[in-house]
Amino acid sequence: MTTMTEAVLEAVDIDAGYGGTIALRGFAVRLVPGRITCLLGANGAGKTTALGAIGGWVRPRAGSIRLRGQDVTNRRADARVRAGLGVVPEGRQLFPDMSVAEHLQLASRVVDNGHPIDYVLQMFPVLRDRAGQSAGTLSGGEQQMLAIARAVVQRPAVLLLDEPSLGLAPLIVGSVLHTARRIADAGTPVLLAEQNASLALRWADDALVLENGRVVLRGSPTDIGRDLRLREAYLGSDSTGSDSDRSPA
Ligand code: ATP
Repeated sequence: MTTMTEAVLEAVDIDAGYGGTIALRGFAVRLVPGRITCLLGANGAGKTTALGAIGGWVRPRAGSIRLRGQDVTNRRADARVRAGLGVVPEGRQLFPDMSVAEHLQLASRVVDNGHPIDYVLQMFPVLRDRAGQSAGTLSGGEQQMLAIARAVVQRPAVLLLDEPSLGLAPLIVGSVLHTARRIADAGTPVLLAEQNASLALRWADDALVLENGRVVLRGSPTDIGRDLRLREAYLGSDSTGSDSDRSPA
């Protein structure tokens, strides 16, 4: 039997949906230390549902999720956070009137063994300069950094990052994804859901492509980039929603 690096998080055979709609079928992913796994797919393909099933805000109808060896399939979202799941939600979900420092303090109080606030302020120097400022007055890129810092301060074992490029200029997205790279390199696996395939593939180690709730491609960023370009050439459509004016990975 071959030995595999132990997964920090492993989801197997996940089905999930809303009412009568099944939005995700047979989803599986293994997140291992040091690696960014990107989850690609067009609008509505099921990326957020997959993150929701792992994060605990969408109840899986089938399958199992193990985090650090514990079965968390039926745990609530807040219990998963305390068990080591870091979540950076789509649209950041910050409190506009609350300051940067207050966001970080609140997040660190939720867990028993978080990082000192200073750890993340060192990691995100721009946030130190803005510590007393309310989140609503930050730029889009700074808000995304705060959303990431808020998860990182909880010392997560694994980080879910949903659509960080949303509404940001490409240059800023690059710096956000570079941050994800640093987090992964420091040992924490990252699951990155992203519509912008060309950007995500540049920073990821592994890639999955979802179409209508099913994983249709899985492999290295180089292979997936090539497959997606072939699909675009033959089907004449951009199945991942990536920007055609940006060079592929
Ligand atoms: P996006 O980039 O738009 O977030 P996505 O790949 O994350 O897309 P999901 O948000 O997971 O896709 O949506 C998958 C499917 O589930 C879509 O058909 C969507 O319309 C449906 N869906 C998502 N959220 C809900 C909900 N709260 N209630 C009903 N249907 C939903």
